[in-house]
Amino acid sequence: MIYLDNSATTRQYDEVNSAMLSAMTDTFGNPSSLHRLGLKSEKAVKSARADIAAAIGCTPAEVIFTACGTESDNTVLFGTARAKRRIGKRIITTKVEHPAILEPCKRLESEGFEVVYLDVDSEGFVSADAVAGALTEDTILVSIMAVNNESGCIMPIEEIGRKIAEYNKAHGTGILFHSDMVQSFGKVRFNMSLVDMASFSAHKIHGPKGIGALYVKKGVNIEPFLLGGGQEGHFRSGTENVPSIIGFGTAARLSNERFDERVAAMRSAKERLLSGLSEKIGNIRINTPNHDSVCSVLNVSFIGTRGEVILHTLEQSEIYVSTGSACSSNHSSKGGSHVLRAMGLSPKEIEGAIRFSFSEFNTLEEMDAVIDAAAAAVEKFRKLGSFR
Ligand code: PLP
Repeated sequence: MIYLDNSATTRQYDEVNSAMLSAMTDTFGNPSSLHRLGLKSEKAVKSARADIAAAIGCTPAEVIFTACGTESDNTVLFGTARAKRRIGKRIITTKVEHPAILEPCKRLESEGFEVVYLDVDSEGFVSADAVAGALTEDTILVSIMAVNNESGCIMPIEEIGRKIAEYNKAHGTGILFHSDMVQSFGKVRFNMSLVDMASFSAHKIHGPKGIGALYVKKGVNIEPFLLGGGQEGHFRSGTENVPSIIGFGTAARLSNERFDERVAAMRSAKERLLSGLSEKIGNIRINTPNHDSVCSVLNVSFIGTRGEVILHTLEQSEIYVSTGSACSSNHSSKGGSHVLRAMGLSPKEIEGAIRFSFSEFNTLEEMDAVIDAAAAAVEKFRKLGSFR
């Protein structure tokens, strides 16, 4: 099997599996319980929080556990809207965000908020100047993803953070800056002091599904999304998912410890695939920019084919890829990927798009096999022509 759908989800590290298994058998106490078993779970959660904080580049007190990246994103949008609706109702984001941002934005629009969806250029980048130009005194939040899950673009997060801070200083405003860092985590490091809030998810870094985190910078206040027993410093009630938190902590620690070698392995797999596909297959469009793009994503349009058919053809050789984002495939299929559309791709280019996404486990030999299989699949499809 050659797994190239790591932006959708990753295989859990073996160490994550064994840490979670022992958490389920031995560390089953409720972290809020006062007895020894509770204390043991509380300590395990504390240690995972420290590992995740180290990987993010913040303090443990700034990490809040959530059920997923989606919950982290929703918490930011609804929590900021509730906390600041008397100050202003304007939110700035981009057209290429994940549905976990775009859907809450739509809901907020229906509740009377104004949402500005900034354009991206043909390579997929939003400009920091465009963000700065959209700021007004009634803006309460800017939310811009760090790495796009389809194109792999690394957005100019630090520059945007600096511009928002300058605006706040000059105008006496308190515009908050959030970044969805689900796809950048473990692959790109940012100076977190330039960001007020950020979303993370364990299953993109070889941790378990259904556990996420939200970084909330010290001093930043938004309304909690879930109310109840007051866990997570009253910010996110609900008994902690201890086994998943331990799994997340283990994945964060391992991926952080081997950050450079992991990134190098992904980058060389990506470069090998890129050069092989470009050499062997004509009439393709590389949708991932050749600068400022993440090591883990390569998006390619095989013009004159249908991505979905190529995907299923590759699947027959046990090669697993994606036509776009797995999370939005139910969602934005009408008219194709909203990200590629925003980049100005033609319907034919969108239709033939495949996203290859890498992990440190991918090898160069695998890439050579994928190049051959993709060339054969594309040739077969182009010969048969469109049979719709
Ligand atoms: N944000 C981005 C950029 C993503 O790629 C994803 C998942 O693909 C999410 C948010 C949602 O994360 P989760 O699956 O943990 O809800």
